[in-house]
Amino acid sequence: MANVKGLVCRECKREYPLEPIYVCEFCFGPLEVVYKYAEITKKISRKKIDKGPPSIWRYKELLPVETEPVDLGAGFTPLLKAGPLAEDLGLKHLYLKNDTANPTYSFKDRVVSVAVTKAKEFGFETVACASTGNLANAVAAHAARAKLSAHIFIPANLEKGKIISSAIYAPNLVGVEGSYDEVNRLCSEIANEFRWAFVNINIRPYYAEGSKTLGFETIEQLGWKTPDHLVVPVASGSLLTKIRKGIQELQILGLTDKAALKISGAQAKGCAPVVDAFKRKSWNIHPVKPQTIAKSLAIGNPADGYYALKAVRETGGYLEEVSDEEIIEGITLLAQTEGIFAETAGGVSVAVLKKLVKAGKIKRDDVTVVYITGAGLKTIEAVEDTVEPPTLIKPTLESFKGKVLKSVGQLS
Ligand SMILES: *Cc1c(COP(=O)(O)O)cnc(C)c1O
Ligand SMILES: [Zn+2]
Repeated sequence: MANVKGLVCRECKREYPLEPIYVCEFCFGPLEVVYKYAEITKKISRKKIDKGPPSIWRYKELLPVETEPVDLGAGFTPLLKAGPLAEDLGLKHLYLKNDTANPTYSFKDRVVSVAVTKAKEFGFETVACASTGNLANAVAAHAARAKLSAHIFIPANLEKGKIISSAIYAPNLVGVEGSYDEVNRLCSEIANEFRWAFVNINIRPYYAEGSKTLGFETIEQLGWKTPDHLVVPVASGSLLTKIRKGIQELQILGLTDKAALKISGAQAKGCAPVVDAFKRKSWNIHPVKPQTIAKSLAIGNPADGYYALKAVRETGGYLEEVSDEEIIEGITLLAQTEGIFAETAGGVSVAVLKKLVKAGKIKRDDVTVVYITGAGLKTIEAVEDTVEPPTLIKPTLESFKGKVLKSVGQLS
């Protein structure tokens, strides 16, 4: 590939060819895609990107595929300048990256568009994944579009919205009676026996690159400027790690400034192994058994947890956790101030933002970006008991005046 050098082990730096492999044979470290930046710099410019499609594929020079992408239009989602929420928190430059506006309503469309394209390039006829829900939706949709068969493994107790949002595309959907970590372990065993493209196992090095596009878009939409602080939800830790890689690549290519950027991570209290290691000032992440309403973030043994921790520490950011109650408050606060209905992961990000502001770790003048990675309609269960039901009336003016106007005190 013209722009890609190959794969490299993140630990011992041994090099590997571009194949559907993901661990180093020597040290078991994870493999990562490396690029030829000297080549890319000749082909890429702000102007060319600006003329590209309004999707992740405007950054194709920095993605590890060369064929026509499997494209449902993932990416190039709005970066909204926050109004009432920013006022509420006392921030002057707060931005919300609204990734609920993706084809299957979460940021996972970015990684899956890249992974499924790569799987086709490798000649796979079947794609698969272990998922906490959003990945399942994205894989099922992209597989349908690509005419590939799909095997999708989810914990059986997922939210109804996430199950139906996969089932509608008619993949082979398997509900495993166990936690995500158990689903993932099972899938690693299956991946050893069957020649399937597991997007987040044997295709993981390519899959993960899709998350860089959130970093690219953030910079582009801020007028090619590097912000001061990012708040990113953490499940496996891949997203946080790759947003940083994306921004570093733009810095290497001279497309943005090299201003210091803090990256902070957000987890739910019921599943916060990375936060725990951060607070213990340790590099050892102790796996946990998740117990939280933020199911999309419920990975107790995060594959990239160490690298997320490293990214946070190296940038001088923070890792913070919030309770289920605070997550719900985060969801309602975001909805009622900014008009965005996020899923539980978005509630985690907003609640952690609030906590960091209160603790003085994010300052009034900081240009801060918060990632809203999934849509609220998929996790209705989380908030259905907290919202007011509609006022019930008869279809008469009398009933309206009697019940509605009286209750809001407008009957004159
Ligand atoms: C998967 C997911 C994340 C986190 O992704 P990782 O790369 O596993 O850390 C965040 N938000 C939502 C909504 C997700 O589905
Ligand atoms: Zn190695």
